[in-house]
Amino acid sequence: MGAQQVRDGFVALYGAEPDGVWSAPGRVNLIGEHTDYNDGFVMPFALPHTTVAAVSRRTDGVLRLHSANVKDTAGTAGGVVELRLDALAPESDRNWTAYPAGVFWALREAGHPVTGADIHLASTVPTGAGLSSSAALEVVVALALNDLYELGLQRWQLARLCQRAENVYVGAPTGIMDQTAAACCTEGHALFLDTRDLSQRQIPFDLAAEGMRLLVVDTRVKHAHSDGEYGKRRAGCEKGAALLGVDALRDVPYDGLDAALARLGDEEEVRRLVRHVVTEDHRVERVVSLLESGDTRAIGPLLTEGHASLRDDFRISGPELDLVVDTALEAGALGARMTGGGFGGSAIVLAEAGDADAITKAVEAAFAAAGFTAPRTFEAVPAAGARRLV
Ligand code: ADP
Ligand code: MG
Repeated sequence: MGAQQVRDGFVALYGAEPDGVWSAPGRVNLIGEHTDYNDGFVMPFALPHTTVAAVSRRTDGVLRLHSANVKDTAGTAGGVVELRLDALAPESDRNWTAYPAGVFWALREAGHPVTGADIHLASTVPTGAGLSSSAALEVVVALALNDLYELGLQRWQLARLCQRAENVYVGAPTGIMDQTAAACCTEGHALFLDTRDLSQRQIPFDLAAEGMRLLVVDTRVKHAHSDGEYGKRRAGCEKGAALLGVDALRDVPYDGLDAALARLGDEEEVRRLVRHVVTEDHRVERVVSLLESGDTRAIGPLLTEGHASLRDDFRISGPELDLVVDTALEAGALGARMTGGGFGGSAIVLAEAGDADAITKAVEAAFAAAGFTAPRTFEAVPAAGARRLV
């Protein structure tokens, strides 16, 4: 999404130049799924798909919002939404405007003097595809306000505020991964993030140089985070931690897993959730050490193991996601897994560069044969995190 185009859109709407233009990316998670609300490890990287926002300050307590991606009933871009900052209240808004308004609310709650803004934005991040358009939207607004109001907040602090906006204001109980990915990822790297203390390491991840490609297959099945399934898994993990007497499942060591499962007795549902989280944290650590030792191809089987764990233990995959993974592996992929919250969304496929096109075609043919909506496949190359463009 071009800065110039979004700037022009701003001028056409509001009749003045914006103070600046910012962008924040969508993300895919390489490995580490449903670990971020268990204080565990994740490893996302930023996509070249971005949400770009042109923003100007206001001093009158008014927030004006417009998204080029939101259509009105006539199919054209909808009108400007105007909100008063002093009327913002958690879970009062069921529309897209809750995400940017939530960022204002969270900043004001934390005592930051933001007094309004005019915002026009446009995005190339697919929504509801497990690629985190919601965090891109929050983080682009937070970064713009941090700059314009000279708040002096660090990236990880912006991510925390955005998470609070999404959890409390929007009412979606997500972990910290998405917002941190949008705020902190860097080009050419995957972000190894410890979600307990937000310590992070940038891991070089240049598949092209090693003759591989990473495909993202959007199944076009929309997930819905706020629907109860995500919350149920989260509550089950919390129950597991409580039964095991730890702060979070991250504290269950991998080599103590069998003992922990034995202690959970006949809590079959909780046992499965615990097994996923503990083995998944371990997979992230193994992927990091393989990447750091240059053994990139060896991460493939770990991705596939992660998928099996999400499908069988965490039970959040679905027929479309499973079909991508199974078909890709049959067609020679090095590894494949669903990515994101689950219940639809996207899968990732790691492949030798020369096999990627045949894998894409095989997945398309399998979807057609199954009568599923045609998937959308693109290659993911680690791109830049949130930044000011103009
Ligand atoms: P995901 O983050 O995986 O894309 P979510 O359900 O968390 O899915 O967030 C998607 C929601 O975020 C959309 O339904 C919409 O309300 C909001 N959103 C994201 N990007 C935009 C955008 N560019 N314009 C308007 N709303 C957006
Ligand atoms: Mg989201």
